Amino acid sequence: MMAHIGIVGAGLAGAGAAYALRDTDHEVTILEKSRGVGGRAATRRRDGCRYDYGANYVKVPDDRTGELIRDLGEEGLVDIAEPVWTFGADGEIAPGDGDDDHKYTWEAGITQFAKRLLAESGAEVRKTTRVAALDRAGGTWAATDTDGDDHGPFDALVLTPPAPQTAELLAATEGADADGALEDLRAAVEGTKYRTIRTLVLHYPFELDVPWYGLVDTDKAHEIGWLSREECKRGHVPDGESLLIVQPSPEWSAERYDDPLEETAETAATLAADLVGDDRLADPDWVDDQGWRYALPNEGLDGDRDGVEGGGTDADADGTADAVAAAREAGVFVAGDWVAGRGRAAAALWNGIDAGESIADRL
Ligand SMILES: Cc1cc2nc3c(=O)[nH]c(=O)nc-3n(C[C@H](O)[C@H](O)[C@H](O)COP(=O)(O)OP(=O)(O)OC[C@H]3O[C@@H](n4cnc5c(N)ncnc54)[C@H](O)[C@@H]3O)c2cc1C
Repeated sequence: MMAHIGIVGAGLAGAGAAYALRDTDHEVTILEKSRGVGGRAATRRRDGCRYDYGANYVKVPDDRTGELIRDLGEEGLVDIAEPVWTFGADGEIAPGDGDDDHKYTWEAGITQFAKRLLAESGAEVRKTTRVAALDRAGGTWAATDTDGDDHGPFDALVLTPPAPQTAELLAATEGADADGALEDLRAAVEGTKYRTIRTLVLHYPFELDVPWYGLVDTDKAHEIGWLSREECKRGHVPDGESLLIVQPSPEWSAERYDDPLEETAETAATLAADLVGDDRLADPDWVDDQGWRYALPNEGLDGDRDGVEGGGTDADADGTADAVAAAREAGVFVAGDWVAGRGRAAAALWNGIDAGESIADRL
């Protein structure tokens, strides 16, 4: 039977779900609120530069991820060669972090990952379509967007927005939830906590002579959590220029989330100059930013953190597993980094692929 599958969100989880359904007869429609695809794996262009202002690169934790990335086409694929070094609360930089995994992005930007998956999938992507509510009629699902347009009917739905936004959607399911399955899922999803990051982008009309691509705060006590150089990614920054990505700590980011760009960038540039030990960095010639309210999930849907068992009791975990299973029975799947319990591009992708494969098995 040919079925119609609806996916909310064209980030890596949504693109992964669509990709997993590519060899089936099912028709796949993705509803995406933004103008582009990729979600938090995002790229912007300005003044001859390209920069990845959400996820910096796809870390390849296992062979299957590397294989999939290469299968999507090696043309334009960038494996960042320079290393990531570390620093701590005192701002003292030390070589290496012992992490030799590949660090992939693309010349045209990290959005290529979702774009390439979606091109293979053949799914239709309806952009600038923000889903506001879900409805159920006669065993199928429909989605209504904020312009009042309806999408569907769908035989199954995959919801991939960050947990708080997925919880909002589940709450807005008009009379669709006769058996309470979605209400239980909403209750399980709603408590997922996130870290906030306000990414700052600092551009300079000169090159930096340092041996590292990125610096990471291993103590999680510095005001800067991460700092990196987009010029280490082929195709991103013209010769003779530098473009720094600064990701301040979640506390710093949350405190200054709504402050004006100019003053926030100035403070971040001073911190960057101090950390790198180069006064010139205090004075970028242009700046940009992006606030990510829901940047990284603190924990997974089951209360576990990065695969380590967390604060939730076994009873909580059982309740969540039951809620997820009951929603799936009703045709509603959730996927994303927060379902996987790891704020990583590859984790989101494989979680989406799993959801797509479960749907293919069921329909
Ligand atoms: C600053 C930052 C740095 C990071 N660095 C790295 C890194 O270096 N390496 C790494 O592996 N990971 C990194 N991550 C994490 C990585 O970006 C995410 O784990 C991954 O991209 C999540 O994918 P996703 O599909 O689960 O969610 P998302 O990418 O958030 O996708 C969800 C999609 O749903 C859409 N959406 C939301 N609500 C609606 C709605 N109502 N209707 C329609 N569409 C909707 C959104 O627009 C979005 O496109 C970083 C994240 C941030 C924010």
